[in-house]
Amino acid sequence: PEPLTPGELLALDREHVWHPYGPMPGRTEPLLVESASGVRLRLAEPVEGRTELVDGMSSWWSAVHGYRHPVLDEAAHGQLDRMSHVMFGGLTHEPAVRLAKRLVDITPQPLRHVFLADSGSVSVEVAVKMCLQYWRSAGKPRKQRLLTWRGGYHGDTWQPMSVCDPDGGMHELWQGVLPRQIFADAPPPGFDAAPDPAYAAHLRELIARHAEELAAVIVEPVVQGAGGMRFHSPGYLRVLREACDAHGVLLVFDEIATGFGRTGTLFAAEHAGVAPDVMCVGKALTGGYLTLGATLCTTAVADGISRGALPVLAHGPTFMGNPLATAVAGAAIDLLLSQDWAREVARIETGLRTGLAAAERIPGVREVRVLGAIGVVQLDHEVDLAAATRAAVREGVWLRPFRDLLYTMPPYITSDEDVARICAAVCAAARAG
Ligand code: PLP
Repeated sequence: PEPLTPGELLALDREHVWHPYGPMPGRTEPLLVESASGVRLRLAEPVEGRTELVDGMSSWWSAVHGYRHPVLDEAAHGQLDRMSHVMFGGLTHEPAVRLAKRLVDITPQPLRHVFLADSGSVSVEVAVKMCLQYWRSAGKPRKQRLLTWRGGYHGDTWQPMSVCDPDGGMHELWQGVLPRQIFADAPPPGFDAAPDPAYAAHLRELIARHAEELAAVIVEPVVQGAGGMRFHSPGYLRVLREACDAHGVLLVFDEIATGFGRTGTLFAAEHAGVAPDVMCVGKALTGGYLTLGATLCTTAVADGISRGALPVLAHGPTFMGNPLATAVAGAAIDLLLSQDWAREVARIETGLRTGLAAAERIPGVREVRVLGAIGVVQLDHEVDLAAATRAAVREGVWLRPFRDLLYTMPPYITSDEDVARICAAVCAAARAG
């Protein structure tokens, strides 16, 4: 095709291309990325005098190994030489089988069976379907509602939207048409805070009261991400586990954002030492290379479904188990485990604590919080997205604030110098936005 100038590409983008939570035609100009390598995005033309930006977002929690990692590039190229895709109905292949086995090996022990979905949202859809089908198979079709806590985010498709924050969140528009779920209060804030007995009692009471109609409790363990970047005590996960066991309710952990080391443990559930019945992963699963999610469940859940009138899990997307994505995911997990990833995450945590401490003195900053490789600066007002983004770009850093939140979750390969630079950019954005 004819080469297009950056200006022409951006004009076409504006006219024809939807962006996340964007209007049509587009109102703001996205930055045009030409390539990415290591922790750096290279822009097609200078913006605020910069053509290179340190990525403070890991492409929304996913690019934990950075861009164009030689090991992941090689895994993708090697798989392309064999096959990029083949249907999964009636066929199987080594990358999918090996990935499933790896996931079973590294996730909490009772999780044994893996559904390879095509995104995080779909993996949550599948998790919900597993739970509802399990209870139907058990002759309890009334158990079809979900309980979650306020302030969560589980994706943009239908079932996940129904358990996103119902109050002024991204999906308020759909309240009334979405499946009606049950909402507990959001967990009291603070990863290190002692669990609040009154809140624990609130969770127990709701689960007990609704047990007859509850299929499952679904939560993001330890970090509520896109719903507000809040951290809570792992103790509440133990409360949920006990209450679910006591009242015959399944427990689903959505580890799509927290999985693969982000909070300092391989999976956030490990902070609590509890295992769910069903667990969703995505994002960093492929090191951010390709779209892939996975839903894991216990043998009890899988056997339960198989005993039903419809003895199969009724789901099977075209790109299920995609060879290219599963090959890269397998390589991304091996790469993670081959390194002292926990030390790298702890190093970034230290850098974020040091660098973001300065934000506490900026007028308009309400709170600074850090956990693992996640740094959050919460303002006392809605952030001016354009001004904050520009301020970060002037510092040579890519950030994507939302609501009253400036935050970063850098790739694990980010150097101390670049972590400091990201923190300086977050502070600049806090002053500007
Ligand atoms: N669950 C959580 C906790 C998430 O953070 C996200 C994405 O941000 C999703 C689910 C949805 O994943 P995806 O965007 O891949 O559909």
